[in-house]
Amino acid sequence: MVSEQNEPFVIRGKLFTLLDDGEKNEYLYDDDGVMVVGSEGRILSIGSQVPDEYSHYQVVNTQHLIIPGFVDAHVHYPQLPVIASYGASLLDWLDKYTFPEEIRYGDRSYADGRAARFLALILEKGVTSAAVFSTIHDVALEALQVSNRDIGLNLVSGITGMDQGAPDQLLVDLATFKAINQRAIESCREIERFGYAVTPRFALSCSEKMLDYCGQLLEADQSLLMQTHINETEDEILATSALFPNATDYLDVYASFGLLSDRSLFAHGIHNTEIEYEKWAAAGASVIHCPTSNTFLGSGLFDANGYTSKEINVALGSDVGGGFSLNPFVTMAEAYKVAKLRGQVLDPLLLMYWHTLGGARAIHQEETVGSLEPGKYADFCLVDITSDYVGSEIWERAATVRDKLFSLMFAMPDSKNRVVATFTAGILRWHDEIQSGL
Ligand SMILES: [Zn+2]
Repeated sequence: MVSEQNEPFVIRGKLFTLLDDGEKNEYLYDDDGVMVVGSEGRILSIGSQVPDEYSHYQVVNTQHLIIPGFVDAHVHYPQLPVIASYGASLLDWLDKYTFPEEIRYGDRSYADGRAARFLALILEKGVTSAAVFSTIHDVALEALQVSNRDIGLNLVSGITGMDQGAPDQLLVDLATFKAINQRAIESCREIERFGYAVTPRFALSCSEKMLDYCGQLLEADQSLLMQTHINETEDEILATSALFPNATDYLDVYASFGLLSDRSLFAHGIHNTEIEYEKWAAAGASVIHCPTSNTFLGSGLFDANGYTSKEINVALGSDVGGGFSLNPFVTMAEAYKVAKLRGQVLDPLLLMYWHTLGGARAIHQEETVGSLEPGKYADFCLVDITSDYVGSEIWERAATVRDKLFSLMFAMPDSKNRVVATFTAGILRWHDEIQSGL
């Protein structure tokens, strides 16, 4: 049994991590690897041997695969209850299902229950870091902050900006938005591992004054991130160009208010023009690819090559509730399928990169999360490598690490979660008591 307190230990088992050395396919894999975790929740060493100075630490042996915790770089916690809502495209889906649900998060007790449930669920899926959309309500963000105290995830979130294009109960006037943003930024500063992202929902929901204020916040405080949506569907793009007739394209709307920089997380980016790709790359902004959302809502097929050819940082997001699964293995499998439909083949190492180091880079935390390397937080999960059909045969037959990772994305256990335990900062936060062996 691993301590649920912050005590140093060694974990021994099959160990995989990408290495953050600037390439996207450098990795460490060891069939009998060890990782040493210190009392500060940071990784002290990884490799095949325990260094002498740590030889007195407790050793935990596992039959499961040890991998870095995933980064879900785009997800809406208030949309969990509208997951799998039937038969709508983006703008209908927002009106019909999402906005009515988000109105309810002005009630703190309702938000508390939903936030706790959401965080527990992503933890069980092996997610240890997430960029999370909340709602316009300060109490909804507070619920997320408070619920995370016992769960210990590494989070980024913000107050959602909306002052047009939605039901009145989901609009916030600029003066109120300014006041609650200031308070929320201050409150996040006081919480360990809880960053703030300025969060204009998307261009259609924000007046020029609101976008301008968001740009001012980012200008004034270089530690803030910015998260929003872009180029998700053709209807949305047409509506945006009607609302902002002076903008040359969708990205130009954000750029003209100071919202395009290397601190920007843009979700979707499916229907970009060539000029948008170029401006995106020049700014160093990240794209958050949300494949289950894109296929579910029929929004379109993400062009992976459009981004990778320009060395734009790509991360993966579940985008629940437009996305239908919080499970990172499902998200990676869906990204692979979307690329295949465009005639592109994604390397399983690249998919893992996007869901770990790519996400870490998007939230500007690649120095501390995204891979299992000395000095980083010991954010990791244990993964069951068997399938219901043939046990571990697929894993054992797979000749290369690429093939092994690929099998995890597609040969899912039918009846259970693939992740059996999740640790953040070296502390066991959740485990399946039967399957984990802990
Ligand atoms: Zn979204």
